[in-house]
Formats: sequence, structure tokens, C-alpha cells
Amino acid sequence: MLKSNEIRRQFIDFFIEKKHKEVKSSPVIPINDPTLLFTNAGMNQFKNIFLGKAEAEFPRAVNSQKCIRAGGKHNDLEEVGKDGYHHTFFEMLGNWSFGDYYKKEAIKWAWELLTDVWKLPKDKLYATVHKSDSEAFGLWKTETDIDPTHIEYHGDKDNFWEMATTGPCGPCSEIHIDRGEEFCNLKDDPNHKCKVNGDCHRFIELWNLVFIQYNREEDGTLSPLPQKFVDTGAGFERIVQVLQHKDSNYHTDLFMPIIDKISEISKIPYEANDNGTSHRVIADHIRALSFALADGGMPSNEGRGYVLRRILRRAARHGRILGLKQPFLYLLVDTVAELMGNHYPELNEKKTHIKMIIKAEEERFNLTLDKGLNKFKEIIENASNKLVSGKDAFMLYDTYGFPLDLTKVMAEEKGFSVDEKGFNEEMEKQKQRAREHAKFEMKSENVDWIEFSKTVNSEFVGYEKSRCECRIIKYFIDDDNNVRIVLDKTPFYAESGGQVADTGKIFNDECELEISDVQKEEGIFIHFGKLKSGEIVDKPYIAEIDFERRKNIARNHTATHLLHKALKEVLGEHVQQKGSLVNNEHLRFDFTQFKQVSKRELDIIEKIVNRKVRECLPVKVEIKKLEEARKEGATALFGEKYGDEVRVVSIGDYSKELCGGTHLNYTGEIGLFKITSESSIAAGIRRIEAITGEKAEEYVKLMENEFDEIGRFLNTPQFAVMEKLRKLISENKELHLKIRSFRLKSAGNTIDTMVNRAIEVNGVKVVAAKININNPGELRQIGDQLRNKLKSGIGVLITEAGGKVSILTIVTKDLTANYHAGKIAGKVAEIVGGRGGGRPDMAMAGGKDISKIKEAIKQVPEIIENL
Ligand code: ATP
Ligand code: MG
Repeated sequence: MLKSNEIRRQFIDFFIEKKHKEVKSSPVIPINDPTLLFTNAGMNQFKNIFLGKAEAEFPRAVNSQKCIRAGGKHNDLEEVGKDGYHHTFFEMLGNWSFGDYYKKEAIKWAWELLTDVWKLPKDKLYATVHKSDSEAFGLWKTETDIDPTHIEYHGDKDNFWEMATTGPCGPCSEIHIDRGEEFCNLKDDPNHKCKVNGDCHRFIELWNLVFIQYNREEDGTLSPLPQKFVDTGAGFERIVQVLQHKDSNYHTDLFMPIIDKISEISKIPYEANDNGTSHRVIADHIRALSFALADGGMPSNEGRGYVLRRILRRAARHGRILGLKQPFLYLLVDTVAELMGNHYPELNEKKTHIKMIIKAEEERFNLTLDKGLNKFKEIIENASNKLVSGKDAFMLYDTYGFPLDLTKVMAEEKGFSVDEKGFNEEMEKQKQRAREHAKFEMKSENVDWIEFSKTVNSEFVGYEKSRCECRIIKYFIDDDNNVRIVLDKTPFYAESGGQVADTGKIFNDECELEISDVQKEEGIFIHFGKLKSGEIVDKPYIAEIDFERRKNIARNHTATHLLHKALKEVLGEHVQQKGSLVNNEHLRFDFTQFKQVSKRELDIIEKIVNRKVRECLPVKVEIKKLEEARKEGATALFGEKYGDEVRVVSIGDYSKELCGGTHLNYTGEIGLFKITSESSIAAGIRRIEAITGEKAEEYVKLMENEFDEIGRFLNTPQFAVMEKLRKLISENKELHLKIRSFRLKSAGNTIDTMVNRAIEVNGVKVVAAKININNPGELRQIGDQLRNKLKSGIGVLITEAGGKVSILTIVTKDLTANYHAGKIAGKVAEIVGGRGGGRPDMAMAGGKDISKIKEAIKQVPEIIENL
């Protein structure tokens, strides 16, 4: 059998022999092409040549191009898992002519390679041409020995190729193969006829020869290109399928090793039928993810990144079907790299990176997946018609991160549909809510100000002072005494750079204003608050901030700088600040980092920061020229705009950052630094939260008290708590096992009774009874016992737990030809208001109506009789 790696090579060598230059595949994440979500065809990298915007360096080229069709104009995501020849990621083999040869050679060579080199059976091949292209039609007749009745005219849909809504395009000629009648999946439909470009899986397209001669303009018109081009694309996986005589791309050596690995991890053997869908979907998706991440893609919440996230989540969900609850996708990356790393070395080079991102993303998704799946189950169980409402679909999306198409697939599996219109309406409503929220925060420029003075400048003196004398320049007050105040001078820090605003008061003998927030609007400090007493008058005021609170904010801010530096020291220089929040309660720091920061690393980071606290380093603030600060190595925020003059905050010799915030004088004032959490907030971005000063002290005290209490409760000295717990837990486990074996034994006795009382229906022994077991695993064990004791017969066991009905049906092997456990279970379930099904010999079903259990048991003989 020809190996796939050899087949790829043979294609390329064939065209090298015909004077083509081998070029590298371009990345699947397109560079500088916003019209394109992913590279979707071999021609993408040559687009500018076709458009006359770039010169071709050689007149002919050949390659194997990595393609992803999972969004945009070409989207095969939904096909994956349904047929065996559409993938999200696939390789497209192609040969090109840039104003050199044209239709004749393209047709001749394609035929030569397929039939002469690869020896595909000529009588199984078909060629299509565009309805307007009699030239190509004629060439197929004269240049090849194809059966002339196998050349067909087709319309725009199949024989006019376009990359996107605009861009180079033209008529094409496709080569299809007839895989044989047995591949038709629509045999049951009397109106169906197998044909090229038809609806069934019998004929598949192998190779598309595109004759590019137009550009599709923005307004939809076609304008001729200055030169003509040949652009061909052959589906590599499909070629491998036919050359390796397989019935599906998945069964070739390109996929089987991945599928085998999935079986190994899940311990669920692969079956080449519907039961193997999850194996196949995962095998497909892991290839797409590996290549996309190797080429710089990153799961995220929008655009390309969102498509990748969806692909990953869909694969992860299929993993659940195989019982995989822990991250597992990342374990498949090695296999993908082994298979294809030879031709695509980036897979090996980026392997660690790919695995890290996939694993992190899986972990994140797993958390919500569990909760979401439960929610989904609830929704399905409580639905009165077979519809998931738009509201529910949106809740799954918004709260549990289920993409709409995931919900659709899951619903479909249960025979439900999803109200997509309703979903979109909910989406729109949420956007509306966000807009309204924004409106509420009215801009101060639209406020009716009362002016005491025309001065517009307001000076900030808060770096040096916590209190100052000032005048009100203008103010606004509403009916509820809410005020906005602008001062000529202020010690209040306005929220910026992640640091919250100061609070405090503005007062004189006649009036007191309480300030709860300060915002800078176009350089002007606007103080928000309430008039507490008196009346606002045009007289001198004292503005005074809550100094203790400011001090706590400064603790957290200075600690943030220490943390930033320590992170770089411990994790590496790649750590970049992505966001920061500093208030009087705690600090939050977001930064680039691909994997979780381990407990050990966190301990080290905390230790370093606390050491710097004890060193009591001076915090120095200087105003410098930006250039100078940069030269000194001050950390600036990436993408942030700075003026010519910048404020540089240095902490001893340890840290130097550009920063506008308010800080301590010495690090010692922090007191204690304590990390409280580490988490992921987006792919590749982690978040650390921490506390300082008295808050940290209180936190430690709280933990200590909690621990004390546990000790008292367990009646154990503090440091023996763990041992005691271990003992209790293992005792508990033992008890559980004992109870379980008692239960099984007593159920076993019940089974004996049941078997003795079995009735006969159509000469078959039938047991139908209620039983007290509240766990599906045990119920199944009982089912096995019943099967053994019955030897030959049918059993229907019904239990009630948590207000729900579970039904287990077994049919002994000798009877499965005539009686199907799944069907019996389904019929019984209907009576208790549920549904279900399963294998011929064993099936589980559920229902809601416990009042109908008796009735259901009574009807079992009749159900069996009518089968
Ligand atoms: P189909 O009609 O089978 O979807 P297509 O018309 O979309 O194919 P082209 O855009 O002409 O295909 O792409 C060129 C070749 O790439 C096809 O002849 C086919 O062999 C292969 N191909 C296209 N889409 C996929 C896919 N999703 N997975 C694997 N191979 C594909
Ligand atoms: Mg297609």
C-alpha cells in the first residue's frame, strides 16, 4: 500500500518534472488578508499575482497547501462527522501556471497523473466543465482517453470557482470518482438518483482545475484579468483514500493513528460506523487545531479565534461522549506531529506551545462544560415540545460558553431543534442592555453646569498632599442632591491606569460635600458625590481625601509593581501586563502566560515580594524624557501612548515602571503581601489576585481561625487534622462499599423472587418489576444478575429516585433477533412521560411521571406481545 507521505511526494515530483517550482505551503492563518478567515485553498498565497499586483517569480509552481474550511465562504465544519471526505483541516495539492500554460496542459497532466501514474480505473472517473466552457469540454475529448459520456456540463454552483465574495475567479473543470453503489446513503429515497455533484456519498470530487480569468469586484461584476492562470486543487486526503482503497478518508494512514490514539486514551474501540463519529470528529479537529496554533492562531472570543474555540469545544464535547472528563486533546498533538511533522516541520517546532494552549483551553472549557451539560439535560427534560428555546440556547451560550452550533448538534442528537431566531433576539437584547447602561453614565459635557468661574484648568496636587484649599469652578446638582464638582485644585486622584479614584470630602463652614468617585474627562477632574449639608456657595473650600483608604490603595499599587517584577523573574521575560486593578481592598494583575502558574511558582513569587517588603526599599518618583526612561529600562505598557515627559516610579534598584499612580514611600509600609488566587481569564492570559497590609493580616487570621475550628470540630490537635480526615474518609468509603454490597445482595434475593414469579409472553419469560436502587451503575449490575438468572428472557426494571423514573431493559442474547431492548425501553418510557433507547440486549431510559410506574409495569407484557 502506498503511504500517504509517498503520495504527497509523488504529486509534487510529477509536476517538478513538468518544470514546476516547489513552493512552501503558506500558513493557515492568512497574513495580511482581512477578507479571509483561514487559508482555504492553494491559490490564496498567489492572489496578488492573479490580480496583477505582484510578479510571479516563476511561471509554474506546485505544492501541498494547508487549508482550513471552518468559517467564511467555505465552511465544512458541519459536514465533519457526517461524511468521510470533508474536513475542517485538509491538504490541497496544486499545480499553477502564472500566464504560462492553460487549459490543455492542465487537463492532460491531471489525467496522466491519475490514470497513468496512479492507475485509477478510467471507467470510474468523470469530468465536469462549466456550462459556458465548450473549450474545456473539447480538450477532455481530444487530450485524454476518458469515456466521452463521462464529460458533463454543470452550472455556476459547481463549476465556477470563487475564493471569497471578491477576488480572482473563473470557470473550472472537476474530476470526480464513482466509488460504487454501496456508497450511496440515500438508497431509501425512491426519487434519488446517484450522480456527479448529486446528493449522496457515491461520487466524490477529487480534483478541481480552475481557469482563473476574472476578478469579482465589490459590486459583484466580473472584470477580465490581464493574464490567464491555472490554479488546481486536489483533495489530498481523498486521493489517499482512493489510492489506499479505503471507504473513508478517516480509514487511511493519515487519520487511523490519531483514531487509534483516541481509542487508547478513551479505552473505547473505534467502530467504522455511526458509533465512531466522536473518534472521527476529534481526529479531524485536532489536526485543525494543531496546524492553526502552529501558525499563530489563538482561541478567543471573536473572529478566527472564536472559530478555533468552537472547534476545540466541539472536540472536547465529543471527548465527553467517550467518557473523557480530563483534558485529553493535547495528548493527541504528538501523534499529529509524528504523522505530518516531516512535511510540516512547524508541527515539531511548536509542539510544546500547541499542547500548552490546547490543554489550558480544555481545562477552562471543562469547568463550564459540566455545569452546562447538566443544564442542557434539564432543559431537554422539561421541554414540552421538541424545541430548545432561544432563551435557553442563549443562557447556554452566555453562562456556559456553549457556541450555538454546539447546542444545535446536542439538540439534534436528542431529536430536538433550536430556536435560532429567538437566540439571535436574545443576543440583540443583551447588546441593547449594554448600550442602555452606557447611556446612564451621561457625559459631563451634556450636563447643565453652574459656573462660579471661567477658569478651565484644574490642578492635581494629590501626589504631595492629601488635603488642600481650593475653589469650586463649576458644579452640577440634581433633585436628589447628587453633585458633580470641578475644582481649581484637587488632591483627589481620578480613576486611571487601573487605580481607583480617591474618596473624601469637600467642605467649608457652610457646606459639606461627600465625594465617592472622580473621573478625568478631557483632562478635567470631575468629582462625583452628594451634598450632605448646607448649600454650595462660591467661597474657599477644603478638599480632603480619605487618607487611610489612599494608603491602602498605595500599598496595593506598590505591591503590584513588585509582583510584576517578581513574575518576570520567576516565569520569564515573556510576562507582559495585560490589565491591572488596584483599589483599597486588593489588587488584580493580568498578564501573558500560557500555562497555569504552579503552586510552587506562586509560593516563590510571594516570597520574593515579601522579601522586598522587608528590605524596606525606597519608592522614588521622577519626571523624565520618555527616551531617557526607555534607555534606563523602565517597563512601559505595550501599546500605551505616552507623552514626551513621563513619570518613572522606581523601587530601590529592583523595579522601574512608567506609572501615573500614587505609591508608598517605602515598601515596608506594605506590611504583608498575600496571593489569594491565580486563574485563567482568556487563552494565554492569567490573573493573579492579592492583598496587602491589614487585609492580608486579617486573611491569615481568618484561615487560622478556620483551621482551629476544624481541629476543635474533629476533636484533634491542629496538626493532626489531616491524618484524622484521611482516616474518616477511608472509613466512610468502606461503609459505603458495605452498604452497597448489602443492597446488591438483597436485590439479588429480590431477583430470585422475581425470576420465580416471571410470567410468559409468547413463550418468553418476562420479568417486570419496580426495584429500589438509586444509582444507574448499580441498576446495570442488577440487570446483569437478572440476565444470568433468567438465562433466557426479558427483564424490565423500574426505579424511582429524586422524583424521576429510570428504566432498565435487558433481553438475553438468544432473543435479540426478535426483541429489541431499546425499543421496549422506549415504549415503557413513553408511559412515564419520557423517552430512551439503546442496544438490542440492554437499554436505559428515563421518565418524569412517577405516578405512572405501576401502569408502566402492568403494560410490559402487552408491549412485548405487540412487538
Ligand atoms: P466539495 O464539493 O466536495 O465540497 P469543493 O468544490 O468545495 O468540494 P474545491 O473548493 O474545488 O472543493 O477544492 C478543491 C479540492 O479540495 C476538492 O476537489 C476536494 O478534493 C478537496 N476538498 C474541498 N473541501 C474539502 C474538505 N472540506 N475536506 C477535504 N477535502 C476537501
Ligand atoms: Mg465544498
